[in-house]
Amino acid sequence: MIPMLDLYGEYNYMKKDIDAAIKQCLEHQKWILGPEVKELEQKIAEYIGVKHCVGISSGTDALVLSLRALAIKLKGEEYFNRSDGIITTPFTFTATGDAILRSGATPVFIDIDPFTYNIDPNKIREYLTRNAELETRNSSHVVGMIPVHLYGQSCEMDEIMGIAKEHNLFVVEDVAQAFGGMWNGKKLGSIGDAGTFSFFPSKNLGGFGDGGMISTNDDQTSDIIRMLLKHGGKDKYNVDHIGYNARLDTIQAAILLAKFKYIDEFNERRQKIAEIYNQELSGLEGITIPVNNARNQNLNDSTSSVTNGHVYHQYTINVNNGKRDELQKYLKEEGISTMIYYPVPLHKMKVFEGRSRVTEELTESEQAVNDVISLSVEPLQEEKDTMFITAKIKDFFTK
Ligand SMILES: *Cc1c(COP(=O)(O)O)cnc(C)c1O
Repeated sequence: MIPMLDLYGEYNYMKKDIDAAIKQCLEHQKWILGPEVKELEQKIAEYIGVKHCVGISSGTDALVLSLRALAIKLKGEEYFNRSDGIITTPFTFTATGDAILRSGATPVFIDIDPFTYNIDPNKIREYLTRNAELETRNSSHVVGMIPVHLYGQSCEMDEIMGIAKEHNLFVVEDVAQAFGGMWNGKKLGSIGDAGTFSFFPSKNLGGFGDGGMISTNDDQTSDIIRMLLKHGGKDKYNVDHIGYNARLDTIQAAILLAKFKYIDEFNERRQKIAEIYNQELSGLEGITIPVNNARNQNLNDSTSSVTNGHVYHQYTINVNNGKRDELQKYLKEEGISTMIYYPVPLHKMKVFEGRSRVTEELTESEQAVNDVISLSVEPLQEEKDTMFITAKIKDFFTK
């Protein structure tokens, strides 16, 4: 079976570095906020190009703590309240919307662009214009946005930051799927007010358990987050805020430092696999290959995924003839794993019923859940495996 990921293979590839990193922790025994956490924060801050990075227990907690910190900073209150709307996409992992609920705010779901699967800035603009009057009447209003860089590809950040400025909204980038990804020469997570990362084992930079990080250029936001992650105070025996125990483990930071050395190499390997898929599958009737949004960025070479900064956390094709599930079954029989990200849009989940705002048909998201299928982009996957997968897909559509 060709797996979606081969984590054991990746471990073996980096074994010397990872084993040494773990051994060092066993020797120093500084398990809570040990030296590796600080070193990882500094290295990633420098890599992304931000002033502060703060290690967190997971990508989900990174979202929750960012929003809590913004509520404290902007409103002087512990939580947002239900009349505070936060715009995001319904076509994401549950955690994005869940974090909004846990911060006290209301998710406002806006539909995606059907080609990039990312939130559509034009629809955000329409929503804000259309609802301005309605919102004043209900004394509810939008306070911020969480664009999700889905599958490793940047949202249209120039548009989104422009809207944020016009309407005085904060922006938290959900970078869980796009570590190392870029927009117009800037690393993702350095553009909004804060960026949140996940080190879940299957992410582009993954640990051996849960982990996450927050990036920000704002001193105050970073200070508040550092309080929240250890019970809510600078002094944990005398606290100011309703806090969490949400630290990044020292041992995870040590493993991540070892794996971080390989991140650019591994992202480039992903881009090379994507180029093979693009070459082999483009023009095949019945599917649409992922759009490379470099064309939106006025870059000279719109065919190069490297200049685009798409880091292909997933390589997701669109099967627009109702045959997606049949294709998945066929590939499974041929020994090829695939995944559906995501089978249910957030606004159709019970948890968001009556707790979110949806003012228009989310047609594109509802269509995408039926049509998308993600192929394996294990960075160490050999070219012959990628070719085998494309051959079987061609067989399916031409038989
Ligand atoms: C994985 C993921 C998260 C959550 O990260 P965890 O580390 O699993 O808590 C949030 N948002 C998106 C888009 C994700 O893919």
